[in-house]
Order: sequence, then C-alpha cells, then structure tokens
Amino acid sequence: MPRFGAVEAGGTKFICGIGTSPADLESVEFPTTTPAETIRHATDFFRPRMPLDALGIGSFGPIDPNPDSPTFGTITSTPKPAWRNFNIAGALRDALAIPVAFDTDVNAAALGEFRWGAAQGLHAFLYVTVGTGVGGGAMVNGQLLHGQLHPEMGHIRIPRDPARDPFPGNCPYHGDCLEGLIAAPALEARYGCPPHLLPADHPAWDLVSDYLALGLTNWICTLSPQKVILGGGIMQRTELFARLRSRVAELLNRYITPPDLVPAELGTAAGVLGAIALADAFLGRAR
Ligand code: ZN
Repeated sequence: MPRFGAVEAGGTKFICGIGTSPADLESVEFPTTTPAETIRHATDFFRPRMPLDALGIGSFGPIDPNPDSPTFGTITSTPKPAWRNFNIAGALRDALAIPVAFDTDVNAAALGEFRWGAAQGLHAFLYVTVGTGVGGGAMVNGQLLHGQLHPEMGHIRIPRDPARDPFPGNCPYHGDCLEGLIAAPALEARYGCPPHLLPADHPAWDLVSDYLALGLTNWICTLSPQKVILGGGIMQRTELFARLRSRVAELLNRYITPPDLVPAELGTAAGVLGAIALADAFLGRAR
C-alpha cells in the first residue's frame, strides 16, 4: 500500500504529515521562517519516515501549479520577500527524491473535504478559508479549478460603506479587497487586538459576516456550487454561520436557492489531509 507525505505550507506555519487517510495521519507543525530553515525542518521530519511514494504540497500563494510551466512549483508574488519566486516544490523534490504534487492550500483543503469530509459525492463545491488570509478552492465538473494560475477568491472587490466602516483595508495590493477587510490581520488593525480576543457580541462579527456574505453570493452566482464549506481560524466561531446563511439568502433574494453553508468537517487537518489526497491523485495519474 502506498504511503504519502504531505505539506500544508502556510504563511505563518507549516504542517507536515505522512499517512494515507485521516485514520493513520501523523503530523507535526512548526513556524514558517526562512525558506532554507523551513525546508530543513520539513526534510528532517520526512527523512526518517522514508520511503514515501509521493509528496503532496498545498501552499500559500499565489503559486505556479502548471506542470508545463518553466516556473512550476514556485511561490510567485507573495508579500513575504524571502519566499517570492522560491521553488518550494523543486526544493522538496530534490531533497527527498520522490514525485511531488503541488497546488494551492485551499485547493488541497477542498480535495481533502472531497475525499473524507463535507464534499463527498459532490461534483461542484467551494471550500473557503477565513483566517490569516481569505481564499477559496473550487471543484467544478469533478476537477479542481485552475486557469491562468488558480483562482484568488480572497481578493475580489466588495462594496464598503465608509460611514459604517472607515477602515480602508490592509491588503498590500488592493486595500479594501475582501481579504483586506476581514482576514485576521485586518481585524487586528481595525480593532487593535487579535480577533480571538473580540467577544461574541462585538460589532466586528456582524461586519465580517456581512462582507463574507457578499463574497459568498458572488462566488455562488459565478461557480454554482452544490455546497460551500468554510474553514480557517475565523470560521471556528461557528456562531457566524447563522447570520451568514440569512445574509446570503437575503442577497440572493429567492432568485436561486442558496447552497448549504457548512463548517469544514476535517477542521484544521483539511489542508494536510488534502495534500495527502493530492499526492495520491498524482500517483494515480502517473501510474
Ligand atoms: Zn487583495
């Protein structure tokens, strides 16, 4: 039976795992520092656990996931200068000498939910994370959605009423795109404390829900998902789901029926399990 390695490469932490499914996943996490040091931590985890048949990587981005591109495997225009244009897939493939599958962190998490979680049996769904960033991975017609590179759903433009919300947004590229309005760093900049310290009745949560409902409505109208799965640190506040569902229904205004909005079933393991599924799918294609 094949054994897979998995990396969920995040901007603040890496999770490395080995296994074949949620039942046998063994994983560790450590902070993301420089590329050289972080890759060394990862290979220190994998080397004593070889042989592995393939490695799956779900990475923060934007990335180049196109295997036919000369820059395949790189993280491209991240605001983290040390990681810009770093070939993460190449570095791990060279260090471990095994086949590597590479996609976005959110596409990996979507695939994890498809294999073992809330999206089993579906052919069109959306996985959205709201945490240190905002991102979406989509399956359409049974395939993870790619294109010129991959969707960057967190950076869509959202109407902002400056009278209700004078915060101009903090995305370094767009200011008040969705990520610049509701990701954890935006909430910390707006309210002066990390979002996990904001009480459940703080007006921040109505604002987050209202902005996210606008994003969800746009993605629902564009991609026609059968279900929307929400994960990430902010979405651990499950009390947000009730307002989200009612705001999305109001915005769609009975024109189409809203799909179910549900929490990620794999929780914080969706990304690393999705990277296992990426490796498995890649080996299946390669055989
Ligand atoms: Zn942006």
